[in-house]
Amino acid sequence: MGEKLGDGGLLLRPLPDEQKIYSLVSILLSAENQPIHPAPVQTLRLVLGDQLNPQHPWFASNPQNDVVYVLAEMRHETDNVRHHIQKITAFFAAMEYFAQDLQNRGHRVDYRTLDHPDSTLSFGEMLQKAAKSWDAQNVEYLEPDDYALDQHLRSCFGPPADSTHHFLFERTGVADHFGKKPQRLLESFYRMARKKHGVLMDIAGNPLGGQWNFDAHNRGRMPKNHPLLDPCSTPSDQTEVVARIQRHGIQTLGTVVADRFPWPVTHSDARKTLDHFVEHLLPLFGTYQDHLGPEHPYFYHSRLSFALNSKLLHPMEVIRRVEEAHRAEPDRISLAQAEGFIRQILGWREFVRGIYWENMPNYGTKNALNHHAPLPAWFWDGNTRMACARHAVQQSLENAYAHHIQRLMVLGNVALLLGTHPDEVDAWYLGIYVDALSWVEMPNTRGMSQFADGGIVGTKPYVSTGQYLKKQSHYCGSCHYRVEERVGENACPLNALYWEFHHRHRSTLGHLPRLGYTYPTWDKMDPEQQNALLEQAAYWHENRDTL
Ligand code: FAD
Ligand code: SF4
Repeated sequence: MGEKLGDGGLLLRPLPDEQKIYSLVSILLSAENQPIHPAPVQTLRLVLGDQLNPQHPWFASNPQNDVVYVLAEMRHETDNVRHHIQKITAFFAAMEYFAQDLQNRGHRVDYRTLDHPDSTLSFGEMLQKAAKSWDAQNVEYLEPDDYALDQHLRSCFGPPADSTHHFLFERTGVADHFGKKPQRLLESFYRMARKKHGVLMDIAGNPLGGQWNFDAHNRGRMPKNHPLLDPCSTPSDQTEVVARIQRHGIQTLGTVVADRFPWPVTHSDARKTLDHFVEHLLPLFGTYQDHLGPEHPYFYHSRLSFALNSKLLHPMEVIRRVEEAHRAEPDRISLAQAEGFIRQILGWREFVRGIYWENMPNYGTKNALNHHAPLPAWFWDGNTRMACARHAVQQSLENAYAHHIQRLMVLGNVALLLGTHPDEVDAWYLGIYVDALSWVEMPNTRGMSQFADGGIVGTKPYVSTGQYLKKQSHYCGSCHYRVEERVGENACPLNALYWEFHHRHRSTLGHLPRLGYTYPTWDKMDPEQQNALLEQAAYWHENRDTL
């Protein structure tokens, strides 16, 4: 953060009291550069690191001289699990730029870095002390997206002053839509969302193109040697933020190139990332959405999840931009591509948030399959002979990113087949990905990926043998294991584990309609073959750390 922001503008400098050197505080200057004594502070307003919505009415309105915005780097957030260094850096950098922007717009800001002694307190204690030192009468906050933090702030300061004006539905959106119906199906929620927000609809009120869902046109396997674009990068220098995190001894995961930090951490860089996506990647987004391989970390994915989850970007801005691009150039950006992408944001993202709020706090302890094994050791360093899993872990450590199918059908698949405790899986996913926040990570990991919610998010467990990976990727050809073999020390571990998983969970899963073919196929195998698969799977379970 700079020291001076311009004549007659605002100056960032330490508070002249105990917070000296820790806080960056704005002081109003007159045209002659003399400090104007600001009005006494009435209200402190907390802005969390994932509430950086520049269009929120709090910030969009004229600055109020008696309001101070508090943004604080808190150990509570950095130390709850082991996070990727890029994730912590991205949030702190985005917070700093946001604070700077607020000051440029005339707001008073108290930015507290990790150096502040109160960074180790709870949010409630920190704000109570801050209110005292500012002599403020009120503390206000916006609806947090994390259940535990929501409860904590309510208990300290009463209900939130406002929502974040970010999501397209209330927290109760899913519960309201389904009411007492036993099942929550994404497709039903998504259609309602399209109608409600008038997205990809024709003038008669029907879905554009006469169809709601174009999934059948999407999800191809990329030909070998398909030319790939460089990922859009809006590099920024985050050396100071990274040094601060390291100086405080925060335990992190993965690597970072601090002076070419790759994630968009300002609203304008987030927009550039969106522009790049729409211009270059959207035309093939859906086509290769499910492709897996070592060729590229991002393929045609947008890399927008951090910008969305920190709220730098509004979901409707992204949706409208994609819809307009399709309407303007339908031959270049087909409806299948636009619809496939919009479904992720208007559908899945809002849906999983609704599931989270409908089911918390119990959701966080669900373990429907009664899994208790530890996470395999190679999740932390990628040291496995399974080519698909090795690449997914190594790429996650390098980029704090893996795309959806890597998260679901590679890493989630192996963790689930190996019977890993959902708490361990949850903690790993929450730590490693730049976009991981509990409201979106938990329903995806514990729910969709691990089936620990017993089928609230997914209608069946997402597991596969090696055949799915062979069809969808270029990994198997270079793997230590042989994808066609089911038993033996060189057989692909997923093959035997897949059958043993279904056998083990027959009483819980046997009735699921979507597993209509699985159990009859198992039952048709001769007992010798079944036993060989079960023995082989037992071997993989015992040797889970050295697969
Ligand atoms: P794209 O593929 O370009 O998709 C565009 C946007 O759609 C994403 O930015 C995201 O905002 C949204 N989106 C797509 N799928 C989902 C979904 N299933 N749930 C919610 N939003 C979705 N996403 C997170 O934002 N945070 C997480 O912590 C997270 N954890 C996941 C854990 C598992 C086990 C799985 C299977 C998925 C998880 N996802 C999570 C969803 C998805 O994998 C990421 O949103 C996506 O990979 C982010 O990359 P992208 O921006 O390039 O996405
Ligand atoms: Fe993955 Fe099995 Fe293919 Fe190896 S053979 S890459 S473990 S699916």
